[in-house]
Amino acid sequence: MPSRSLRVAVIGAGAAGLVAARELRREGHAPVVFERTDGVGGTWVYEADADASASPEPLVTQRRSNLDASLRTNLPRECMGFLDFPFVAGPDGDTRRFPGHAEVLRYLQSFARRFDLDGLVRLETEVVRVSRETSGTSWRVRYSRKASGSEKRETDEEVFDAVVICNGHYSQPHFADVAGVDAWPGKQLHSTSYRVPEPFHGQVVVVIGCGPSGTDISRDIAGVAKEVHLASRWSLSATSEKLPGHANMWLHSEIDRAQEDGSVVFHDGSRVKADVIMHCTGYKYNFPFLTNDATVSVDDNCVDPLYKHVFPPQVAPRLSFIGLPLKVVPFPLFELQSHWVAGVLSGRFKLPSKDEMVRDVTAFHSRLAARGWPRRYTHRLRDREFENEDWLAEQCRRGGPEGWRREMFDAAMQVMVERPENYRDEWDGGDYDHLLAQANRDFAAHCQ
Ligand code: FAD
Repeated sequence: MPSRSLRVAVIGAGAAGLVAARELRREGHAPVVFERTDGVGGTWVYEADADASASPEPLVTQRRSNLDASLRTNLPRECMGFLDFPFVAGPDGDTRRFPGHAEVLRYLQSFARRFDLDGLVRLETEVVRVSRETSGTSWRVRYSRKASGSEKRETDEEVFDAVVICNGHYSQPHFADVAGVDAWPGKQLHSTSYRVPEPFHGQVVVVIGCGPSGTDISRDIAGVAKEVHLASRWSLSATSEKLPGHANMWLHSEIDRAQEDGSVVFHDGSRVKADVIMHCTGYKYNFPFLTNDATVSVDDNCVDPLYKHVFPPQVAPRLSFIGLPLKVVPFPLFELQSHWVAGVLSGRFKLPSKDEMVRDVTAFHSRLAARGWPRRYTHRLRDREFENEDWLAEQCRRGGPEGWRREMFDAAMQVMVERPENYRDEWDGGDYDHLLAQANRDFAAHCQ
C-alpha cells in the first residue's frame, strides 16, 4: 500500500498528462491537471489556421498543434497505444492501421473518458510559474485563466506537494542556421506551420531535414510544387540525386549557404533558385514557467541534470518530467514513466540517494560524450529505448513493452526508411500477421 498520498499538479493534458493523471490517481494521489487550451489531446488536436507567414524567429506559440492536414501516424496503431488500453479500430472512425490524426485524438479522448479523467483537468488554465516553497518539499503553482464572464485573464496560485511536467516539446520550433539567409529573398517556414500543400503550387521548395516530418511533408508538397529539394546531413552521396518515383524531387547534402540572388547552395556543389525554405528541423525543450528552484536548465537542447530523463536529483521526487525522450514509442513510455513517478511519490518505489543520482547522471553524460554523441541528442533514445523501458518496468515491478511491440517498432522504422511513400498502406501484406495476431491475443486478455 502507498505510504503517502499527495496533491500533485500535472502541467499539460496531452497523452503524457492524461496517463500521468491516471497513474497518480491509481496510486492514491490527488492530481490536478492544468491545460492551457480548451481540450485534452495536446499535439493531436488539429488546428487548420496555421500562420503561413511564420518568421524564422524563435516562435513561442500558444498553438498546441503542428500537424498537417493529411498526417497519419508513423507507427502501427497496435504498437503506438498505451500498454493497457489497446488502440484498436472501432466500428466508426478511421480503421487504417496507420490512422490519421483525428483517430489518435479520438483514442486519447476515449482514454480520458474510460478512466474518468476529464473532471481532473482545468481547461484554459496556463501555468505561468512554478517555484519552490521555503519548506523545500512543496511547490507554488501560479496559473492564468479566463476570468468568468469576461475575456480578461486572472492569475491565481496554489501550493502542491509535487509537480509533474507534461508540457510537450513540440511548440518551440528549432530553425537550422543557414549562412546568408538574411539577405536571401525567399520565404522561410517551419514544419509547425505546415498544413496543406496548395500554397506551394508551382514553387521551388527546399526542405531541410529528413526525419518523419521532412519525409512526409516533402512528398506532400511534391504533388503540387514545381520542384522539391531535400537537404539532409545524412545524405551519403557526394552529388545531388533524383529521388526514385518522383519527377520533381532531389536529395542533396546539407545547405552551405543561401544567396541574395535567390539561390540555395548545397555542400555537394549543387544549387537551386528557391522560393521557399521549409525547416523540418525539430523543436526545442522549453519550460518558461520554471524558476531556478527547479535546478535544471536547457543547454544545447539537453535538459540537465535529470536522473533517467525524469527526476532532477536535487528536488526529486517532488518535481518530475514525463515524455522528454525522443525517437521512442511515446505512449507506452509515458505510461511507464508515470507509473514510476507515482510510485516513488507514494513511497512504494525507492530512488537512490541524491549523490548517487548525480553520479549516475554524470556517468551517463560521460558515456554519451565518449561515443561522440552530441549533447543535443541526449534525450534521443532510439536504440536504447527498450533498455530504458525495461529498466522502468523493473523499478515498477511490472512487465514492459511486449515482444511484438518491439518487433513492430523496429519493422516500422525500417520500412519508413526503405519505402517512405507507401509503407503505411503496404504494411498489411502478410509479413507482420504473426505480430498482429499476438497483439490481438494480448489485447483480448486485457479486455477480459
Ligand atoms: P503534447 O501532446 O504536446 O501535450 C502537451 C500539453 O501541454 C498541450 O496540450 C499543451 O497545451 C499543454 N501545455 C503546455 N504548456 C502548458 C502550460 N504552461 N500550462 C498548461 N498547459 C500547458 N507519436 C506517436 O506515437 N506516433 C506518431 O505517429 C507521431 N507522429 C507525430 C507527428 C508530429 C508532427 C508530431 C509533432 C509528433 C508526433 N508524435 C507521434 C509524437 C507526439 O507528440 C506524442 O505522441 C505525444 O502526443 C506527445 O504528448 P505530450 O503529452 O508529451 O505533449
